[in-house]
Amino acid sequence: MQTYPLYLNGQFVPSEPAWNVTNPADGEVFARISTVNRARVAQAIADAHAAFAGWRQLTAKARGEFLRRIASELENRREEVARLISRENGKPLAQSLAEVAISVDHLTWFAEEGRRAYGRIIPPQAEGKRNLVLKTPIGVVGAISPWNFPLMLSVRKVAPALAAGCPVVLKPARQAPLSCIAFAECAHAAGLPKGVLQVVCGPSGEIGEEFLGNPLCRKVTFTGSTEVGRILIRQAADTIKPLSLELGGNAPLLVFDDADLDLAVEGAMLAKMRNTGQSCIAANRLFVHRPVYDRFLAAFVARVKALKVGEYSEPGVEIGPLIDRAALDHALALAQDAVQRGARLLCGGHRVERKGFFFEPTVLADVPADALCRRGEIFAPMAPVVTFDTEAEAVQMANDTVHGLSAYAFTRDIGRMFRLGENLEAGMIGLNDGLPTTSNAPFGGVKQSGWGRELASEGLDAFLETKHLSVRC
Ligand code: NAP
Repeated sequence: MQTYPLYLNGQFVPSEPAWNVTNPADGEVFARISTVNRARVAQAIADAHAAFAGWRQLTAKARGEFLRRIASELENRREEVARLISRENGKPLAQSLAEVAISVDHLTWFAEEGRRAYGRIIPPQAEGKRNLVLKTPIGVVGAISPWNFPLMLSVRKVAPALAAGCPVVLKPARQAPLSCIAFAECAHAAGLPKGVLQVVCGPSGEIGEEFLGNPLCRKVTFTGSTEVGRILIRQAADTIKPLSLELGGNAPLLVFDDADLDLAVEGAMLAKMRNTGQSCIAANRLFVHRPVYDRFLAAFVARVKALKVGEYSEPGVEIGPLIDRAALDHALALAQDAVQRGARLLCGGHRVERKGFFFEPTVLADVPADALCRRGEIFAPMAPVVTFDTEAEAVQMANDTVHGLSAYAFTRDIGRMFRLGENLEAGMIGLNDGLPTTSNAPFGGVKQSGWGRELASEGLDAFLETKHLSVRC
């Protein structure tokens, strides 16, 4: 069985202990990943700091060339990297190929955007003074990413940081670290200077503490659960370390009686079922206007029942396994809880009788407000559906959560679209759109879904300091 090395200061280094990586489609260990302790992470940060001086001095154009070369290496290995993502994460191959394609797009987009880290010149208020604003790279970045889009969510941090002139020490999730090693191979093949990108794995608590405590690490960017985000905020207090936090969601999806119902059903399928429901922006609660409730449910349930569940390489498969046994148990418990509280189970609700951690695509109707699946993240292909009578009631229910990452609404009424855009408490709102993510628009949440934004110009700015130069001349 292959043991993957880590990528440390320009070299691929095997180290012990190695941890198992499991294929969620059969529960079998198929590879191992090297790990390091906290002292070695401190060394990686020191090496990154040593690389910072040279990297920041390159022109943004030259840094962009490196990003483009990495993108091209990744593109050339797309099939192989996609298979690796599918094996470590379980997602259907077509979705892994899409993840690689989006990662390539993030790299090429930030290769250009790095050239637009503009400062500005401000008309002075005092005679004989000039006021200038400079944008400078923040320094070494500690990046922590999750397993659900293991490559894409890592690239979403690495690409803008590198474009801004910052070296990165990346820590992927223990369940799915291998595609990040493949990404490091692409960076290495692209000739990236040593220390500019490093990949570490190991005890996450220790690595997080080192990122937050080490004065040479100037910024921590994290994607993961709100629970861990809270831990990082507490740890950042001592060093006042800047944090970007992309945390959990509990997205509402609203369908109004004036919507194109076919579009709404397709949008709901995409927003709910993509990545087997294991997405931070997954529609977690579906609210449907009473006049179209029964028609929507009939069409939606028919589509959900037709979903093909299977192992990533099976032709036409749309739903893979959940990431591990705990995720499967969580989904089963949520379905049982909803039914016990009076919800109607329209399809699914059980595990699929085969090896691995497969859960049946599930629709629950009339789910009461106190059901656990309406209160927190489901992270499974399970859709709780509820009806509403007025726009105000829909918005009130949609906002009744501590999270605020994404929201969706389907309507043909342009006035309502603007009202919803203003009133829904979410960082991203898809209007007649079940997948609002794109390299050139900001991604992130309000309320307990996080701090800051990734992607777009905001994603670059997250790795830049703003300096005022006051010049008397
Ligand atoms: P998680 O348990 O919070 O883990 C995320 C990452 O944090 C992993 O690399 C994990 O490492 C690490 N980690 C865990 N405990 C840590 C600690 N004490 N200090 C430092 N790092 C620590 O989340 P997950 O289960 O992987 O991912 C699912 C969650 O991420 C969901 O809540 C989802 O909504 C959220 N998410 C948010 C976004 C967004 O953009 N807002 C995107 C995707 C996912 P180990 O795995 O090695 O322990």
